[in-house]
Amino acid sequence: MTAWLGTDTFIEIIYLIATALFIFALVWMRTPATARRGVRAGEIGMLLAIGGTLLNHNIIEYKWIAIALVLGSIIGVPLGMVHMTAVPQRTALSHAFGAFCVTLVGTAEFYLRAPAVPPFMMSVLSMEVILGALTFTGSLMAAGKLQEILPQRPITYKGQNLVNLLLLAVAIGIAAYLVHDPSRVHLFPLMLIIPLIFGVLMIIPIGGADMPTVISLLNSYAGLSAAAMGFVLDSKLLIIAGALDGASGLILSVNMSRAMNRSFSNVLFGAFGQEAIAGATAQQARPVRSATAEEAAAILGAASKVIIVPGYGMAVAQAQHKVRELYDALSKRGVDVKFAIHPVAGRMPGHMNVLLAEADIPYDKLLDMEEVNDEFPQADVALVIGANDVTNPAARNETSSPIYGMPILDVDKARTVMVIKRSMSPGFAGIDNPLYYLDKTLMLFGDAKSFVNSIVHELAGGHN
Ligand code: NDP
Repeated sequence: MTAWLGTDTFIEIIYLIATALFIFALVWMRTPATARRGVRAGEIGMLLAIGGTLLNHNIIEYKWIAIALVLGSIIGVPLGMVHMTAVPQRTALSHAFGAFCVTLVGTAEFYLRAPAVPPFMMSVLSMEVILGALTFTGSLMAAGKLQEILPQRPITYKGQNLVNLLLLAVAIGIAAYLVHDPSRVHLFPLMLIIPLIFGVLMIIPIGGADMPTVISLLNSYAGLSAAAMGFVLDSKLLIIAGALDGASGLILSVNMSRAMNRSFSNVLFGAFGQEAIAGATAQQARPVRSATAEEAAAILGAASKVIIVPGYGMAVAQAQHKVRELYDALSKRGVDVKFAIHPVAGRMPGHMNVLLAEADIPYDKLLDMEEVNDEFPQADVALVIGANDVTNPAARNETSSPIYGMPILDVDKARTVMVIKRSMSPGFAGIDNPLYYLDKTLMLFGDAKSFVNSIVHELAGGHN
C-alpha cells in the first residue's frame, strides 16, 4: 500500500482518518447512549495518529521511541485503573504530562532553530512554551490539591491577582521581544521559568473544590499549546486535535461554571469555599424527621412514581449496583422509576451518567435537569441518594446563599422527599440544606450502599 501511494500520502490519509475519528468521538460523547462508541473512536484515532507518526521517514532510530513507549505504558496503565472518584486528579496528571512534553518539544525546537527563527515561528513557539509550562505546573498543583497532598484551602494574599497578571505580562513581553529579535537566546530560559512559576501561583488561591472546573480549563490550555506545537512541527493533525481539545475544554469549563452559577472569574479569582465552610460550622442543630429502611421501603413500595436523585455520596459509597437492584425491585412492582441527573452532581462532568451506565440503568430512564424538573410535582417520592447541593432550595430563594442562582433539581416539589446520607454534614459548597427540615422530608441516615441494600432487602419481604 505504502509503495503504491507513497509513504507521505499514506501518512496523510491515516492522519485524515484520525482527525475524522476525533471529531466523531466528541460528537458521540455528547450523550450516554453513544458515549462508549465515542471513547472507542477516540482511542482508534489516537492509535492511528501514533502509528502514522511512527511511519515518518525522518525517524532514523526507533530505539529511544521504543524505550519511551514502554516507560509511558508502565506509567499509563496503572494510571488508567484508578478509582472513579480519583479521575479528576488522574486527568490533571495526564494534562501535566502532555504539557511537559509540549514544553520540551518547544524548547528543543527553539535551540535547534535559534538564532534565526522567523517571526511567525517564534510567535507560535512562544505560545507553545508559555501555555505548556503553565499548564504543566498548574496541573500538577491541581492534582496535588485533589489528592489532598497539598492543602485544599485557597491561599490568598493582598495584591495576588496583580502579581500573577504582572508575571504573565512579563512572560508575554519577553515572547514579543524574542519575536522581534530571536538572537537574544539568553532570554528564552526566562520565558520558560516565569510560566512555570505562574502555573503554581495561579492555582494556590483556588479552593480544592473548584479544581475540576480548573482542570477542564487547563485541558483547554494543553490543547491550545498542542495546536501551537502543530504549527511549529507543521503537523495538521496536531493543529486540529489541539484546537478540538482547546475548544471542548473551554466549552466544558463554561458549562460547569454555568451549572454552578459561577462566573469564570469567580472560579479563578474567587477563593470559593472559605466563608461557606465557616458558615456551615456555625449552623444550629434543628430537628429533622428520620426513618428506617423498613419505613422507607413501605413508602417506596406504595408509590406509583419515584424519582431517584444520585449525587456525590452515591459515587463515594459505590452504591450504583445496589441502586440498580432497587430500580429492578420497584419496577417489578409497577412503580415508574426515573433518575434525575444534575449537570454538576458528583465531582466531574457526567459522573452520575457514567456510574449509572456502569450499573446498566437504561439510558431512557436518565433525565436531565431541564426535562425532569417538571416531573417532580407528580412524583410520590423523590429519593435523594448522597446528593446535597444540587437539591438545595436555598439556591432558589436565599439571596445571601453562596449557591444562590445555581439551577437545582426541584426535589422539594415531590410529595415526599427521602434523603440517604450519613449525617447532617454539608456537601461540596459547605452550606446547610433547608430541604432536610421540611415536614415532607425523611432523613435516612446511613451509608448509601448499605442503606439502599437494606431497602431492597425490605422490599423483598425481609428474606435473605
Ligand atoms: P454534595 O457534595 O453537595 O453532597 C454530597 C453528600 O453526599 C454529602 O452531603 C455527604 O453527606 C453525602 N455522602 C458522602 N459520602 C456518603 C456515603 N458513603 N453514603 C451516603 N452519603 C454520602 O454532592 P452533589 O452531588 O449534590 O453536588 C455536587 C457538588 O460538587 C456541587 O456543589 C457542585 O457544584 C460541585 N462540583 C461538581 C463538579 C462536577 O463536575 N460534577 C465539579 C466541581 C464541583 P454525609 O457526609 O452526611 O454523608
